[in-house]
Amino acid sequence: MLFVFPHLHAWQRRDRLLRKFCIATCMLGLMGTCSSKTESADLVKRPEILILLSYHLGHSWEDRILSGLSEWQNNTKPIPVFHTEWLDSKRYPDQNQYSNIRNYLMKKYSNRNFDLILTIDDNALEFVARNHQIFGDTPVVFSGINGNPGEIIGNLIEVTGILERFDLSRTLHTAYSLHPNTKKLIFITPHDEVGVGIRRDIDTVMTLEPAGPIIEHWITPELLTIKERLIKQEEDTLFFVLGAIPEKRGQTPLEPEEVVSYVHFFTDLPIYTDLDTSVGKGTVGGYMNSGLETGRLQAEIARRILAGEQASKISYIRKTPLALIFDYQELKRLDLKKNNLPPGSVIINEPASIFDSKYRASLIGFSSIILTLIVCVAVLVIRSRILAERQRALRYQATHDDLTGLPNRHDLPPIVQQIVRNTKNMERDQIALVMLGLNRFKLLNNTYGHTFGDMVVRAVAERLKYWCCENEKLSRFGGDSFVVISQLQGKDALKNLSIRCEKLLNSPLTINGQHISVSAAFGISISNPQQLNLENMLREADTAMYEAKRSGNTHVVPFDKRLYERSARQFEIESTLPDAISNCEIKIYYQPIINTQHGCIAGFEALARWNHPKLGAIPPPEFILAATESGQISKLTQYILRKSCEAFLPHISNPSAPYLGVNISVSDIYTANLPKFLDEVLKETGMPASRLVLEVTEDMLLHDEKSAIDVLSKIRALGVRIAIDDFGTGYSSMGYLSKYQVHIIKIDRSFVTNIITSSQDQKIVRAISSMARDLELSIITEGVETGQQSDLLREMGCLLQQGYLFSKPQPTEYWSKEKNTFEINK
Ligand code: C2E
Ligand code: CA
Ligand code: CA
Repeated sequence: MLFVFPHLHAWQRRDRLLRKFCIATCMLGLMGTCSSKTESADLVKRPEILILLSYHLGHSWEDRILSGLSEWQNNTKPIPVFHTEWLDSKRYPDQNQYSNIRNYLMKKYSNRNFDLILTIDDNALEFVARNHQIFGDTPVVFSGINGNPGEIIGNLIEVTGILERFDLSRTLHTAYSLHPNTKKLIFITPHDEVGVGIRRDIDTVMTLEPAGPIIEHWITPELLTIKERLIKQEEDTLFFVLGAIPEKRGQTPLEPEEVVSYVHFFTDLPIYTDLDTSVGKGTVGGYMNSGLETGRLQAEIARRILAGEQASKISYIRKTPLALIFDYQELKRLDLKKNNLPPGSVIINEPASIFDSKYRASLIGFSSIILTLIVCVAVLVIRSRILAERQRALRYQATHDDLTGLPNRHDLPPIVQQIVRNTKNMERDQIALVMLGLNRFKLLNNTYGHTFGDMVVRAVAERLKYWCCENEKLSRFGGDSFVVISQLQGKDALKNLSIRCEKLLNSPLTINGQHISVSAAFGISISNPQQLNLENMLREADTAMYEAKRSGNTHVVPFDKRLYERSARQFEIESTLPDAISNCEIKIYYQPIINTQHGCIAGFEALARWNHPKLGAIPPPEFILAATESGQISKLTQYILRKSCEAFLPHISNPSAPYLGVNISVSDIYTANLPKFLDEVLKETGMPASRLVLEVTEDMLLHDEKSAIDVLSKIRALGVRIAIDDFGTGYSSMGYLSKYQVHIIKIDRSFVTNIITSSQDQKIVRAISSMARDLELSIITEGVETGQQSDLLREMGCLLQQGYLFSKPQPTEYWSKEKNTFEINK
C-alpha cells in the first residue's frame, strides 16, 4: 500500500529493511537446521517446531517477535528445526484464505509430528485450536493475545503463553508527569473487534484513575475521517493511538505504527501508544509492549517445554514484556525534559554524541587525525614562515653589506631602476653614477690592520649617508669603493655634484676618538635615463676613478672616452710588469750626484727604465704607480735594489767613494719586510751598507709615524743612510727631519728650475740649506740644468748637485768606463 504523503515514505523504507532482516533471520534458521542435521542427525533428535503467525512477513510487531524467537538458536543445543508459516488471515480474513491455508498446511505437514507449536497473535492460536486433526495434542505456546485466551483455545490442553496487555496505567502516569497541564485525552482505536478489546482495557484502567482530563474515544473505521479533527485539537491534549486502522474503509488496515505516523502527520500534539515499533514513528514513548522481548520470553517458555515441563503447568504470562523507551526527537520537539523520564528509560533516535563511550575510539581517532592535520598545517605554516624569513634574510644578506648596512653591488640594478622611475623629465634630466674609491686604502689596511680599515670604511659610509641628497642612492660597491646614483637636473648639476664630491672628505673622520684624514678619488659616469646601461656606467665610472686616483689627492674625474685609452694602457702595463721583472726587461740607469767643490762624483741615483716592447719607453712614475696599484711594487723595488747593488760593485773601489741612491716608494716602507730584505741584499751582493742611501719621499712619513720611525731606525741600524727626496713639495716640516734622523735632503727640482729669477725660491733654498747645516744634514739639489743654477746653488752652500748639466741618467755600461770626474765651472 502506498500513501501519497511524503512523511510515510521514510517509515516505509525502514519497514522494508526490517522485512529483509526477518527473512534473513529465517533463512539463517533454516541454514542452521541443515548444517546441524548433517552434524548430529544420528546422535540427537532435533525438536521440530512450528511457528505460526497470524499476519504476514513484514508485519512489524510479528517480525519483532520472530526476531526474539530466532535468538534462541544461538544458545541452545540441539538447535530445533523451525517451520515458519504466515496465515496472512488478517489481511485476508475470508473463508477462502482460511481453507487454502488449512489445505496447504495439511498437505505439507501430514506426515510430520511437531514437538511444539508457537503461535503469534490470535488468528494463529485460533487456527491451531480449530485444527486438531492437523496438530493433535502438540503443546502450544502463544503470544500476542489481547483478549481472553480461554475463548480461543477451546479444547486445547497443553497450552500456555504470553498475554498482550498494554500497560496504559504506567504510560499514562508517565505522560501526566511529562505534560502536567493535560486537559484532554483522546483515544484513537479501531472500529473492529480488536478495538473493542482495547477500549475495554482502557476503561478498566481509567475507572481506577482519579477524575482528571476530559476523555474522548475516537472509534475510527477509517483514518480519513479524523484528519480534520486532528488538526483542530487544542493544546494540552494527548493522543493515545492504539491498534491497526485502515486509511480508508475497505482497505487493509495500516499497522499500529503506521497509524501513529498518520496521526503524527496531522497534529503536533503528543502521541502515546502501546507498541515499541511505534517509537521513532511519532510517539513520545513510555512503557511499550516489546515484540522482541515477547519473542525472547516465548522462546524461553518453549525451551522449558522441550526440556520436559508440561505446558498446562506453566501459567500464562499476564504481564507483557515491556520496553521503557522514548523518542529523542519527540522529547526535543515537545520540549520535554529527560530528567522527568522514569528511571531506566532508554532514549532512541538520539543524535550521536561525541562523548558517548561507543564513539570514544572513533572520536580519539578522529581527533588524532585532526590534531595531526593541525600540527602538520602548523608545521607547514611555521616552516614556510621560517623559510620566508630565511629567504628574506638571505636576500638581505645577498644584497646588503654587513659592514655598513648599505645595499651592495647586487642591489644596484633595482636602485638604478628606482632612480630612473623617479626621474621627472626623461628628456632633459640625466643620471650620474659616482664611483668613489679611497686613496691608498690597501696601504692603510696593511699598516693599521683590517679592523681599522673596516672602521674607516664604516666612517666613510656614515659620512656618505649624510652627504647623499633625497634623489640620490648609495651602495657599497667593493672594499673601499662606494657608488652613488644621482639625478642630475639643470645645467650646473654635474658641476655641483663634483664640488660636493671634493668637499666630502675635507674634514677628517673621527675613528676611536682620533681624527683621521683620508682622501678619495671620484669617477663620474653620466647617462640619459632612457638609454641607461648600468654595466657601461660602472665601467666608465671605474675608469674615471682610476684616473682620479693617479692624482693622489681628492680628485673628481668625469668619464671621458680618452680615459679608456689610458686605462687600457694602465692595464697593459700592470699585466706585463711581472714578466718585465722576471725577464730583466726593466733596466737601471744611473745619474751621478756631483760634488761641485771637488768636481767628483759623490754618488749615483739608480733610476728605473722600462722600454716596453709594445708601449715603448714608459715614464718611471707611470709604471711605479701601476706597480703600486697592482701590488707589485715591493717585488719591483727588490729587483731594482738587487740589480743596482750588483751593478754598483765596481764603483766601490772608486777613490771618491761614491754612494748608491735607490728610490723606495711609500708602500715599501709599510708592506715589505724591507729591513730584512735589505740586509739579505747587502750580504748577498757584498754591497757595503755605508755606501747605500735610500731615497724616500716626504709623504711616506705622514702615514704612520710610529711604523715609519721603526722601519727607518732598522734601516739605519744596518748602516744604510736615508735621503728625503723631493724635499719642499710635500709636508716639509723641519721637525720630522730630526725625528726620523735622515741623513740627506734632496731639494726638489721645482725650486731649482726658476732659482735664477725667483727670489722666493732663492729664499726657500737658502733657508733649507742653512737649516740642513744646523742639523748637520747633507743637501743635494736636483734638476740642475745650467751652470748659472749650479753656481748660484753652490754659492748658497748647496755643493752636491744632480742634473742634466752634469749627466742624464745613463746605463751601467756607461759608468763602467770609469768616468768619475766632472769639469766644474768655477
Ligand atoms: P726622482 O727620484 O726625483 O728622480 C729624479 C728625476 O729627475 C729622474 O726622472 C731624472 O731623470 C730627472 N732629472 C734629473 N736631472 C734632471 C734635470 O736636470 N732636468 C730634468 N727635467 N729632469 C731631471 P726619472 O728617471 O724620469 O724618474 C722620475 C721619478 O720616478 C723619480 O723621481 C722617482 O720618483 C721615480 N723613480 C725612478 N726610478 C725609480 C725606482 O727605481 N724606484 C722608485 N721607487 N721610483 C723611481
Ligand atoms: Ca730620487
Ligand atoms: Ca727627486
